[in-house]
Amino acid sequence: MAILPQRHPSRILNQIAPPTRIHTSTTAPPRPRRPHSSPLTLDPAATPRPPLPNDPTLRSNWSHRAWLASGCTTVLISLSKSVDAAAASHTYLEPILAALLGYVLADLASGVYHWGIDNYGGAETPVFGAQIDAFQGHHRWPWTITRRQFANNLHALARAVAFTVTPINLACGDATALAFVAACSGCIMFSQQSHAWAHTTRSKLPPLVAALQDGGVLVSRSQHAAHHRAPYNNNYCIVSGAWNEVLDASKFFEIMEMVIFFKFGVRPRSWTEPNTGWVEEAEAEATSLLS
Ligand SMILES: [Zn+2]
Ligand SMILES: [Zn+2]
Repeated sequence: MAILPQRHPSRILNQIAPPTRIHTSTTAPPRPRRPHSSPLTLDPAATPRPPLPNDPTLRSNWSHRAWLASGCTTVLISLSKSVDAAAASHTYLEPILAALLGYVLADLASGVYHWGIDNYGGAETPVFGAQIDAFQGHHRWPWTITRRQFANNLHALARAVAFTVTPINLACGDATALAFVAACSGCIMFSQQSHAWAHTTRSKLPPLVAALQDGGVLVSRSQHAAHHRAPYNNNYCIVSGAWNEVLDASKFFEIMEMVIFFKFGVRPRSWTEPNTGWVEEAEAEATSLLS
């Protein structure tokens, strides 16, 4: 029986594919430049640029606000239908437990989704392309999430929630099921906000948010910081972070990556990157290069 060696998939693949240079966050990769370009000038054609401090791409527009309002309304309808059905049937324990389960599973869902868009597809991928592209940019310039306005940050997930939950609201009248849906979809929709708080300097966080991070209700800054350090393949969950230890200790994502590779021949980005697109640039460095 063939036994796979106990080592990282990238090392196995280096025997299959040409060797790929892997950089760490502490070793900055060489930035592509034109032969005679100034060392402080990025080649706009070759290198993606970080958003400027007041970049319009970080601002909310009316479309973002409308989608966020739609997502919130959808979740509130689930919640109010659940409360009405619970009051009518005098069953309260099951809906409360279902809501707690929804919160717990939303963290797992956030991790699986985040792993998927970090590792597979690209900007041209149907439906998910914009999110994939945004998360690639996030890995290079993580601080920009703290400058992204509220609706700008949440509208993509709010739109997904509005489309997914509306049919459930129309078809379902069960208090327990609706409580689960409301809590799970609400936490998924706001996961980008807990993600933004995980990148925010502690002194700038509202005291309640800092307390919730300390208590493990929201993903902590230290836990998510590990996601932005080499080897860039862990701590994907961004609601409470409760699943991170379980998923990372069990090598759940590494196993999934191996299954997908051997079944479909598709390699995740984490095996061959971070390249220049994943290594975090220091904020001062990136902004000075633009000035
Ligand atoms: Zn990521
Ligand atoms: Zn992040």
